[in-house]
Amino acid sequence: MSQRVYQGVKGVTDASSSILADAKLAKGKVTSPRPLDQKLREECGVVAIHGHPDAARQAYLALYALQHRGQESAGIATADGHHLANIKGMGLVSEIFTDDVLAKLPGSMAIGHTRYSTTGDSALLNAQPIRVDSTKGLIAIAHNGNLVNLGSLRARLEREGVYFQTTSDSEIIVQLIAHSKAGTLVDCIADSLRQVDGAFSIVMMTRDRIFAARDPRGFRPLSMGRLPNPDGPDTIVFASETCAFDLLRAEYDRDVLPGELVMVTEDGVTSRQYATGFPQASCIFEHVYFARPDSRVFGRWVQESRDQMGRQLARESGVPADVVVPVPDSGVTAALGYAEQAGIPFRLGLIRNHYVGRTFIEPEQRVRDFGVRLKLNPVRNLLEGKRVVLIDDSIIRGTTSRKIVRMVRGAGASEVHLRISCPPTISPCFYGVDTPSKRDLIAANKSVEEIRQFIEADSLAYLSLEGLLRSCAGPEHNGYCTACYTGNYPTQWVDVEDILPAALSL
Ligand code: SF4
Repeated sequence: MSQRVYQGVKGVTDASSSILADAKLAKGKVTSPRPLDQKLREECGVVAIHGHPDAARQAYLALYALQHRGQESAGIATADGHHLANIKGMGLVSEIFTDDVLAKLPGSMAIGHTRYSTTGDSALLNAQPIRVDSTKGLIAIAHNGNLVNLGSLRARLEREGVYFQTTSDSEIIVQLIAHSKAGTLVDCIADSLRQVDGAFSIVMMTRDRIFAARDPRGFRPLSMGRLPNPDGPDTIVFASETCAFDLLRAEYDRDVLPGELVMVTEDGVTSRQYATGFPQASCIFEHVYFARPDSRVFGRWVQESRDQMGRQLARESGVPADVVVPVPDSGVTAALGYAEQAGIPFRLGLIRNHYVGRTFIEPEQRVRDFGVRLKLNPVRNLLEGKRVVLIDDSIIRGTTSRKIVRMVRGAGASEVHLRISCPPTISPCFYGVDTPSKRDLIAANKSVEEIRQFIEADSLAYLSLEGLLRSCAGPEHNGYCTACYTGNYPTQWVDVEDILPAALSL
């Protein structure tokens, strides 16, 4: 077993005593009943509604549109100016929030959250929004992303007598607000956000106000929109992705800026920059895979980015072929771009079963083998005798890609060429996307040729980093995090064990 330490990997390479102290404190976050090998790595969706007579239902609809960002738990908190109600549950948004449940959430303001987490993290206790009765009053909070310095913050607060009820990053933020010496609530929130480091897009609610904020590097998306109201103030909405606005018939207004704290009250919208001077590091993986193609993320349509990734991939590593086939669903847009650029017919040669229940996804090899065939099925008459270019958005461990290549070949393809619409994933994410540690990432431990042999493809090529950045460059684009492709992390703290290659971490 390798020893777990933390150290600075950008600018700080000296594992000084203070850094190691922080390391131990950081790991202190798992002194809860959760096992040591489990991390707080969730991909989440957040929403907020201000000024709507049925805010809970609006939040429900918005969360419904963000279901792809997390399927394990969901929650909605509402406020009516006096009280703050909060209901959370395990499962899909539609399973938890029936009409009867929504009726128990009165008020014109709401925040909501949908959460994915690694197995074992999904306790209802850690579902959000979290409601805390603090010295600053009742506060509900929901957040997307991961903090990287919560260990030291948590230890400091515990020394000050704080008792934590969850292992969630959100509770740290609320406790920092509660313990802030600043004068007003909005100053306390700004003070709290300045102390946390990492990725966070946050929505917060008191009895009469909504707050929305993004971390200073802008890792995770958060957009603001409005529902025009001819008889009074507009309904103001916030959501992780703009596809949520479409379901509400809300108009996209703008993105919450990195380092910005927005407050919405009866008097309108006000904003302040609580932090400045950080280079932007928005998660490029949102464009590669995570966000929906019908969303506008970091000021750019995801569909446009994926189309460009496919076109660039065709320019960089085109191969003679008869059909271009996406691995559905996330590979579809890039495959359309590839096919158009290469002048090769696009065919839906793999069909995804959208009704596969989560119960099939079990950590047992026998069931997992079955799982790929449950999810995907080849269309034999489109593949038989064809030279196939297969387009996917990532290879993580390599085992699933190998099964898909075998499936296409088994359906009669004469050649299978795999093209990946991003560079090799060589490092884990610490900012809210659940990727395995380096020892389990095939590209961290094998060359492209070795991966090709492992997955049994006739050829394999990835999109270059330059090609990916060019594909995602829009007029409002100021900078992306690409750490899972480069190992260069925008923040100081990362878990060294997670970024060791397999040979060194045994
Ligand atoms: S490490 Fe990768 S997945 Fe994580 S924030 Fe950076 S680009 Fe996104």
